[in-house]
Amino acid sequence: MTDVLIAGSGPTGLTLACELALRGVSVRVLDQRPGPHRESRGKGLTPGSLEVFARLGAAERISAIGARRMVLRKYFDGAHIQDTATGGGVLIAQWQVEDVLRERLAGLGVRIEYEAQVAGIAQEAGGVTVRLADGRSARAGYLAGCDGGHSSTRRLLGIPFEGHTEEAPTMVIGDVRAPGLSREYWHQWFTSDGGGMMLCPMPETDTFQLQASPELDGDGRPLAPSLEGLQRLFDRHARMEGIRLADPTWMSTWRVNVRMAARMREGRVFLAGDAAHVHPIAGGLGMNTGIQDAAALGRTLAGALTGQGGEDVLDGYEAERLPAAAEVLADTTERHRRVLEAVREPGRGTEAGLD
Ligand SMILES: Cc1cc2nc3c(=O)[nH]c(=O)nc-3n(C[C@H](O)[C@H](O)[C@H](O)COP(=O)(O)OP(=O)(O)OC[C@H]3O[C@@H](n4cnc5c(N)ncnc54)[C@H](O)[C@@H]3O)c2cc1C
Repeated sequence: MTDVLIAGSGPTGLTLACELALRGVSVRVLDQRPGPHRESRGKGLTPGSLEVFARLGAAERISAIGARRMVLRKYFDGAHIQDTATGGGVLIAQWQVEDVLRERLAGLGVRIEYEAQVAGIAQEAGGVTVRLADGRSARAGYLAGCDGGHSSTRRLLGIPFEGHTEEAPTMVIGDVRAPGLSREYWHQWFTSDGGGMMLCPMPETDTFQLQASPELDGDGRPLAPSLEGLQRLFDRHARMEGIRLADPTWMSTWRVNVRMAARMREGRVFLAGDAAHVHPIAGGLGMNTGIQDAAALGRTLAGALTGQGGEDVLDGYEAERLPAAAEVLADTTERHRRVLEAVREPGRGTEAGLD
């Protein structure tokens, strides 16, 4: 029987799989997707995450792809006001982090099983049986739900996701090309009538990650993102003639969610990453918190499986990570407030959400 089944191959599930495989624990990783994605999403790794990746043998490749330093170029009503250099971590797209971890995992003999959607969970003495949406089933000693903010694992276990969700989308987000725009800077345009747009060059690609306040319809309702709409927003905030946004490979909306699971363990099933906590992106801590969860859960499960622990060891995971999640929720809510307040002033940008 497999030791640990992991639901989800985002950064959390992949980190956990590497942690366990390196310790000789047998794992299977299931994901409902048809294959890997190319969305930039989480784009900053903290020194803490880099430490985890160094232990897993993935840090060198991550550092080779990512950027160590980024200059935030801030504009107000179209005029360039100030530049601020940031550093300390690595700027890299989430899909690139996932690629590196998948490669590392393949080197450890584990391949992701795609089109495998967890749809049912039954716990019995000595193990967990997972039912997949296509009727197949899989059994293991433990299950780790690393299946994101809409976690099926959390829902199937009936674990409350406590907190709140803002009704209206706060941002439109995506990956686009912007031929002619300098790739030396993370451009941050804010406008005195409210709102703004940011374009961050993603290393080793010709795309920028776009974040912008959404366009509103006549009734003040946010419009779904479209290339034409993003161009209108760019023209309104950046006021740079001749730059045309092109080739969107990802367009989505993002809204503020501040929620955490009431529990991170139910018998032989654990929650980690966005499945256990979601919060504002100010400060860039979502993926990083999931990576720390994965490191802690890897230690915990390996400890229990190698017989050095038992129930006390298994309880240790939630005892360590639930308070950490609560702290991140409060911290990022405060960072988000600081950024929203700061950008009303010329020359300020997302650095207001950093320490
Ligand atoms: C614009 C933007 C910017 C961000 N910036 C940052 C940043 O700078 N730094 C940072 O740390 N974070 C950032 N984040 C947050 C980050 O993207 C998330 O916190 C991160 O993706 C969480 O990783 P995860 O592995 O827990 O979940 P996910 O990445 O959501 O992965 C979950 C996986 O589970 C799979 N899955 C779901 N349901 C099932 C099921 N039933 N069965 C099997 N598989 C399933 C999904 O297909 C998916 O592959 C940002 C997010 C956005 C949108």
